[in-house]
Amino acid sequence: MTSLSTRINSTEMLLWENLEEVEEKIRAACERAGRSREEVRLIAVSKTKPVSMLQEVYRAGIRDFGENKVQELLEKIPQLPSDIRWHMIGHLQRNKVKYIVDKVAMIHSVDSLALAEEISREAVKKGVCVDILMEVNVAEEASKFGVSVEEAPELAESISRLPGICLKGLMTIAPYTEQQEDNRCIFRKLSRLAVDIQEKNIDNVDMHLLSMGMTGDYAVAIEEGAVYIRVGTGIFGERNRKVTTA
Ligand SMILES: *Cc1c(COP(=O)(O)O)cnc(C)c1O
Repeated sequence: MTSLSTRINSTEMLLWENLEEVEEKIRAACERAGRSREEVRLIAVSKTKPVSMLQEVYRAGIRDFGENKVQELLEKIPQLPSDIRWHMIGHLQRNKVKYIVDKVAMIHSVDSLALAEEISREAVKKGVCVDILMEVNVAEEASKFGVSVEEAPELAESISRLPGICLKGLMTIAPYTEQQEDNRCIFRKLSRLAVDIQEKNIDNVDMHLLSMGMTGDYAVAIEEGAVYIRVGTGIFGERNRKVTTA
């Protein structure tokens, strides 16, 4: 007899165990890199996962959640506590910017001036200031969004002139790999690029937030200077194909 409550409890247990394991790995990576644990912020990537699981992860103390679809974000936000910081980490279409600018803590996926201009326009309209990261396709994968390393400094300068938008750093999605060491050079490149742009001393541009590292490679990303790591599978388990929001 497997009652509903035992099933829920085992899911809860699994989430807490996963979080504990992630936390341990974060601490170990920080220690190896001589960084303090407070420098690294864990974003629980909850896309496709039901609200009940997000609530459990919230109860465990997580306050940063990442989603990659506007629709799903809008469905989940009102169902969860208001002190959650929501991170938009997926490709963002310009016509959907207006729905989220005043609801998210940060947009990690700004990859064109046109998108930045739209965010700026909507932010000014709503009287808010939106923190953003520029997405850089460091690995130059054809399947991924993001500007090239070469284009990034110029885009940073253009974004800096827009009102209502604040560029805080860079984001990258490294290639999928079984060997996280493979991605060290990608993270290092992003980190160097941030330093290069920072040294230009552009007004209104700060390059301190690096969003890099996912379930398979966040330890190496931390060693290379990640501030935000985005962990989905490592916390919530494998994703179903079908999206569930209830
Ligand atoms: C899904 C996703 C993640 C999390 O991936 P996992 O491998 O499940 O940790 C991180 N970043 C982005 C942009 C994603 O879309």
